[in-house]
Amino acid sequence: MFSNSLIELDRAHLVHPVASYRGHEASGVRVLASAKGATVTDAQGHQMIDGFAGLWCVNAGYGHESIVEAAAKQMRELPYATGYFSLGSEAAIRFAAELAERTPGDLNHVYFTLGGSDAVDSTVRFVRYYYHAQGRPQKDQFISLMQGYHGSSTVGAGLTALPNFHGGFGVPLDWQHKIPSHYPYRNPVGTDPKAIIEASKAALREKVAEIGPDRVAAFYAEPIQGSGGVIVPPTGWMKAMRELCRELDILFIADEVITGFGRTGPLFACSHDDIVPDMMTVAKGLTSGYVPMGAVFLSETVYNTIADGAGAAAVGHGYTYSAHPVSAAVGLAVLKLYEGGLLENGVRAGARLMAGLQSLADHPLVGDVRGRGMLAAIELVTDKARKTPLPPAAEPSRRIFDRAWSNGLVIRAFANGALGYAPPLCCTDAEIDAIIERTAKTLDQTLEDPDVR
Ligand code: PMP
Repeated sequence: MFSNSLIELDRAHLVHPVASYRGHEASGVRVLASAKGATVTDAQGHQMIDGFAGLWCVNAGYGHESIVEAAAKQMRELPYATGYFSLGSEAAIRFAAELAERTPGDLNHVYFTLGGSDAVDSTVRFVRYYYHAQGRPQKDQFISLMQGYHGSSTVGAGLTALPNFHGGFGVPLDWQHKIPSHYPYRNPVGTDPKAIIEASKAALREKVAEIGPDRVAAFYAEPIQGSGGVIVPPTGWMKAMRELCRELDILFIADEVITGFGRTGPLFACSHDDIVPDMMTVAKGLTSGYVPMGAVFLSETVYNTIADGAGAAAVGHGYTYSAHPVSAAVGLAVLKLYEGGLLENGVRAGARLMAGLQSLADHPLVGDVRGRGMLAAIELVTDKARKTPLPPAAEPSRRIFDRAWSNGLVIRAFANGALGYAPPLCCTDAEIDAIIERTAKTLDQTLEDPDVR
């Protein structure tokens, strides 16, 4: 039962992820109480369309009994089994096999984690182990993109390029390097796809030359940059970067934690450019957020190099909850839903979402509309010609989020004023239309905010 004492208990005891602790104490928690389909209801009974699928994760939507049943059945039969020391569970083995059948190319080996951050962290350990196994341990430098997000573990936070994930934490950054994002809306080379791709290739070449070609281990990229503001590269960008990494003798890691499992249409966004990375990370849609789980997919070469390098010794990397049977059982149930019509619905709903957001392009605050499938953003500006971001004094991330919430819509409002959309794939046409209407209302209200000008 919700009561004011819940707010007090939260204030006193619950430390929230990625929040201003003092700001949160002042504002108090918003408690979500229940959800069904694409609708969430807060503790006061206020209903909203969840335009952000929780945290871009509840791809299947809320309230699927088949998922609940799968978890309950697994909990009754075998709630836990370790994967350590060659032990295992049927659910984890079957889930790995089902995934391997669907991953691009030879990404046939699946390492289950608890979420996205430790999946990214695992790739760093695998990359290092891979080069040690080859007798090239000096290849220990990592490159990622500005505006990139790769989790908030001590190491992955370094691959992440968002400043408040570094400042004050003493993140080890000396072996982590950044090159500019492709960011078509704000790329100094303009919007021409070929020019953007060439600029990114030149930046990677230069960075590798600067570090030393025999020192660079891997390059990380999201097929669409999520937390940086849903930044969509031109088609062909991933392929060009993948091929360049091969030429430069560095591993290419695709971080599909957001883009995986239908978010951009197909099961994996790498298939838009028909590429096979050396490793791929997933989480979120893997279990549709019902229980925690992430995974790393390893290519034959990466897996076999590590296996041969270790020989009879154990590869000392694992978690108590790696390959958790309940998460695997949930993942299997979720996969059935995706392939039983949800992916198709996501493609249809995604086209409607993009068309709807495009229809807002003439609004005085809308500078850019971008996205792919059920992953989209509009970037707000106060001056379209100059592309001036909303001023910090207008507190875009808090005020726009609050307005949308009051209007019955949950979205992600980024600090620069970009609004992110990642609704559940189950959305109906009426729900997509409501997302657009409520966004339009939120934009009109934001235009009235004296701090916006
Ligand atoms: N990589 C990407 C691309 C992500 O978007 C995220 C989470 N938003 C992560 C990694 C980290 O995942 P998690 O929050 O599950 O640790």
